[in-house]
Amino acid sequence: MKIIMLGAPGAGKGTQAKMIAEKYSIPHISTGDIFRANIKNGTELGKKAKTFIDAGQLVPDELVVDLVIDRFKEDDCKNGYVLDGFPRTIPQAEALDNALKAIGDKVDFAIDVEVPDENIVRRMGGRRACVGCGATYHVVYNPTKEEGTCDTCGGELIVRDDDKPETVLSRLEVYHNQTQPLIDYYKEQGILKSVDGTVDMKDVFKAIVEILGA
Ligand code: ADP
Ligand code: ADP
Ligand code: ZN
Repeated sequence: MKIIMLGAPGAGKGTQAKMIAEKYSIPHISTGDIFRANIKNGTELGKKAKTFIDAGQLVPDELVVDLVIDRFKEDDCKNGYVLDGFPRTIPQAEALDNALKAIGDKVDFAIDVEVPDENIVRRMGGRRACVGCGATYHVVYNPTKEEGTCDTCGGELIVRDDDKPETVLSRLEVYHNQTQPLIDYYKEQGILKSVDGTVDMKDVFKAIVEILGA
């Protein structure tokens, strides 16, 4: 099963993608996580990506597409995957379609997690990320047992640089201009499914399981 998560930054794509990955035993591929790991490790790609990420802009397509398409070739992707944060532009979506078509394959579902902009600003303000394992929490909606410490690995929790209020606004604008058009793109392909992302995370997940099948 090949699934794409769509939605504004902070809509809950990562949160849901992790649950999907676990339930359906497929890998969760997050381009944001891949970039953050590269930044942490000081790679060339990380250095290039950081300037765009910090400015709330998209990393150029040519730095993203090959990275994701190479990732699909790994063994754990045999039974599918859930893509979180990719594609984010029409050219990325077309590159993905072409790469899959070349091997007689296609995307099964594009799930749009719908959350209005007002809620997004609140979500990003409270988001905390673990420096150790990348797990995501929220100070109000999904707090850790012990403040400032990851439940899973005990790592330190931080506010992502790009979750600062000024950057959030540019990311939302970028989303509306460059990523939202993908909703129509997948609607035309007949694989778009929308879920209400404003309800409790468990209920969002229930709606997704109804779409994907139990
Ligand atoms: P969020 O989870 O809040 O939507 P991500 O972790 O997916 O954010 O991405 C963080 C940043 O990494 C984005 O703002 C963008 O700069 C960059 N990025 C991630 N995925 C892509 C992509 N597919 N194309 C271009 N840039 C990307
Ligand atoms: P995305 O990957 O789309 O950027 P995340 O999954 O990182 O979004 O979620 C953004 C923030 O909102 C996180 O702090 C997360 O804990 C919180 N969150 C996710 N889903 C919900 C929900 N249904 N209700 C309230 N908060 C949520
Ligand atoms: Zn952790």
